[in-house]
Amino acid sequence: MTDLPQLDLSADVLALTRALVDAPSVSGSEEPLADAVEAALRALAGLEVERVGNSVLARTNLGRPTRVVLAGHLDTVPVAGNLPSELREVDGVQRLYGCGTSDMKAGDAVMLRLAGRFGVPGGEPAHDLTFVFYDNEEVEAVKNGLGRVARERRGWLYGDLAILLEPTDGEIEGGCQGTLRVRLETTGRRAHSARSWLGVNAVHGLAGALATLAAYRPREVEIDGLTYREGLNAVGISGGVAGNVIPDEAALTVNFRYAPDRDEDAAEAHVREVFAEALAGGATLTVTDNAGGAMPGLAEPAAAAFVAAVGRPPRAKLGWTDVARFAAFGIPAVNYGPGDPQLAHTRDEHVRVDRLRPAEDALTAYLSGSPA
Ligand SMILES: [Zn+2]
Repeated sequence: MTDLPQLDLSADVLALTRALVDAPSVSGSEEPLADAVEAALRALAGLEVERVGNSVLARTNLGRPTRVVLAGHLDTVPVAGNLPSELREVDGVQRLYGCGTSDMKAGDAVMLRLAGRFGVPGGEPAHDLTFVFYDNEEVEAVKNGLGRVARERRGWLYGDLAILLEPTDGEIEGGCQGTLRVRLETTGRRAHSARSWLGVNAVHGLAGALATLAAYRPREVEIDGLTYREGLNAVGISGGVAGNVIPDEAALTVNFRYAPDRDEDAAEAHVREVFAEALAGGATLTVTDNAGGAMPGLAEPAAAAFVAAVGRPPRAKLGWTDVARFAAFGIPAVNYGPGDPQLAHTRDEHVRVDRLRPAEDALTAYLSGSPA
């Protein structure tokens, strides 16, 4: 443990965000930062703390009737020459630039501030609180620290509401859509293109499926007042042997983004139905990956109180996020963080300074049970 960054939870949320950003933690190298987070949390007398790999878990045990889980990942995508952090004013707005500012160390800083406030004797949160700081979110799902916690310490994730502090520009984004990827393959018979009637063209065999996709009308589904917009799209196509050969193989990759009222099986069944004609004609369909979405659960009392504290109408989360891991346990989950999702993973990544305090204040009001 060399150069352990010191995290002062009494510093304001901007200073804390900077301290986190200036401790680089590209996926797979979160250990020093996880150590620092663990040390800061262990110093708080009101928290039970546990370490799982490079994920750090902390919770209050006050016997409150309800529990709120706050979660954030500690890792970032690879640094793009954008560290250390830099405070700059652009278009009259103070912004903190640097890798991980928006996605999602600003959110982690808010979580740490809340831990510092409520994780001490006399902190008196209205709900028991669980804090989950996890590793390896920006890489393959098998490495995901929250997934590991779900497998090895499932009880730590239980609660009445989970709030994931991924960047949402300070808006509540409920649930998330699912995502399914399939490969539709056709086969034919190879022949010289000068005698094409001797062959069967596998690329032409995809024509029907492409026409189906072009004509497809995706649903818009309203759940708990949020509108989820589905999409079924070809995202890749391959086939062809040489400029003078009738191709005997072709494949279409299709991505289905589906509303959370369908589960994984229903989503796959729907796609098979859409391509029924192609499948009847001999095409094969293989599921490459399928991750179910998450219902927003905004009708649950704990979630409704949070919406009231933020004071603005929630919107639907269209991308897939780790909220689905909570939804798998039946826990309503929302995304809410100070960062700007459009800036995540960019060289120009930054967070508006004027978004930090409002996020901290809204969560503080909600967690202390005071009216918004
Ligand atoms: Zn993120």
